[in-house]
Amino acid sequence: MQRSGSRAVIIGAGPAGLTAAYELLTRTAIHPVVLERSESMGGLSRTVNYRGNRIDIGGHRFFSKSSRVMDWWARMLPMLVRERRSRIYHGRKFFDYPLKFSLDTVGKLGLIRVIRIGLSYFGSVLSPIRPEKSLEDFFINRFGRELYRTFFQDYTEKVWGVPCSRIDAGWGAQRVKGLSIRKTLIHAVKSIFSGRGPDNVHQKGTETSLIERFLYPEFGPGQMWEETARKVREQGGDVRTNAEVVRVLHRDGRITAIEALDRNSGRKVIHEGDVFFSTMPIKHLLRAMDPPPPQDIAAIGEGLVYRDFMIVGLLVKDLLIHDEDGRGAQLIRDNWIYIQEPDVKLGRLQIFNNWSPSLVADPSKVWLGLEYFCDEGDALWRLPDQEMIELGKAELVKIGILRCNDAEDGTVLRVGQTYPAYFGTYERFGEIRQYLDGFENLYPLGRNGMHRYNNQDHSMLTAMVAVDNIVAGTADKSNIWGVNTEQDYHEEETQEA
Ligand SMILES: Cc1cc2nc3c(=O)[nH]c(=O)nc-3n(C[C@H](O)[C@H](O)[C@H](O)COP(=O)(O)OP(=O)(O)OC[C@H]3O[C@@H](n4cnc5c(N)ncnc54)[C@H](O)[C@@H]3O)c2cc1C
Repeated sequence: MQRSGSRAVIIGAGPAGLTAAYELLTRTAIHPVVLERSESMGGLSRTVNYRGNRIDIGGHRFFSKSSRVMDWWARMLPMLVRERRSRIYHGRKFFDYPLKFSLDTVGKLGLIRVIRIGLSYFGSVLSPIRPEKSLEDFFINRFGRELYRTFFQDYTEKVWGVPCSRIDAGWGAQRVKGLSIRKTLIHAVKSIFSGRGPDNVHQKGTETSLIERFLYPEFGPGQMWEETARKVREQGGDVRTNAEVVRVLHRDGRITAIEALDRNSGRKVIHEGDVFFSTMPIKHLLRAMDPPPPQDIAAIGEGLVYRDFMIVGLLVKDLLIHDEDGRGAQLIRDNWIYIQEPDVKLGRLQIFNNWSPSLVADPSKVWLGLEYFCDEGDALWRLPDQEMIELGKAELVKIGILRCNDAEDGTVLRVGQTYPAYFGTYERFGEIRQYLDGFENLYPLGRNGMHRYNNQDHSMLTAMVAVDNIVAGTADKSNIWGVNTEQDYHEEETQEA
């Protein structure tokens, strides 16, 4: 596999594809060719520039429990160290996220509600739902029914567009990991006594949802991936944009070539190779296979569900809510706010100034990202841009965050396949995996490439482990599928930060 003159064809220039290209270049004699459908680098982790104001699609924290990834990022690009602050907005009031047990929380919720929360929590401890089948069961077992309804249900159902009772408990196990009331309390006490310095961003023993500091490229996550692409090209790799993979040719259990549509010229180009990496959505990969997969595999592929995403970038003069300090009213410090208000469609609010001041052209303005979760083609998705911007403004005014005439400019981004869902035909995903694993020289990688709720670090690790296997001459791919399902992502050290 490593003979000189070997070629790797990589579908997609997101974190997984570009990491694969970089790792191949620096560790093997294999020449990588990256085929990217769009014009940008970074996939879901790209940065979009609107009149000098930059949008990070979703707000990407650079944090990993894997020192391999943390070190890789550090070598690639100097980054800012940012403080995390995110809160829940519920009943027109702010609550700390992760939830803190304080007098402030009790005051905002009211004593009766707090008692109900306490009773339902102890009810769940004494008599947990077994077996834990759905995400609803997962939340109730860890937080109690009342707390789940108050703080988790509305936002989670906005994200997925289906009731939590219809989502597999596996999502919670992977995403919320071991977070629970007990751990939240322990975390609160530990952070008081640990005296962590702001430069310690490894925080390895910390639950993913509790991370307090993270790294961030000055100009947004796309900067990391533009830099990686630059280095790949500098070292002789090939990264082609506007190249949409439309056909994956195979014979006798091996991929032989990939056909890509050049979106500039309309021509189709065949790329032959020895090894192939795919980060395109699995549903689309299966459609592109030539000859096509067996009917039942194709049907499972068609039944995979994705949740899609829209973000309204809104430039405003000021917000109605402020942080108070000695200098008077300041811009709130939150990176993002979960909107747990059932009377608006808005799911989450990003305050890009607090990710990096360089995301904002005019520092006297506030640059917001209003996140809406939807299904590609639904009524929200089809709303004309101007109406979508008006909806965003009206919702912020309704929930008391924005004054009526304070918005100055706006833009809308629609992003398909942002969340690979753990429902639809997902429970039969193992059959797709078995089919794809049957192609010895094909490596499905990353988030949609593996239909898994992977963050950048997991996506990168899948690429790194695939290249490890190629270097070692290992055919078994189970360690790649194992990323983000095993504790600490194959890291040996489990030290507390
Ligand atoms: C709202 C949101 C918030 C997030 N927050 C975080 C966070 O805080 N921290 C974090 O680490 N991660 C976060 N993530 C996850 C992160 O965005 C992904 O893990 C990461 O971008 C996945 O990398 P990837 O390379 O697997 O896929 P992608 O980023 O999806 O890249 C795949 C690439 O393949 C291209 N492609 C698709 N089809 C074809 C085709 N047919 N031909 C050629 N090219 C094709 C796409 O254009 C794309 O560029 C977030 C994601 C979302 C949606």
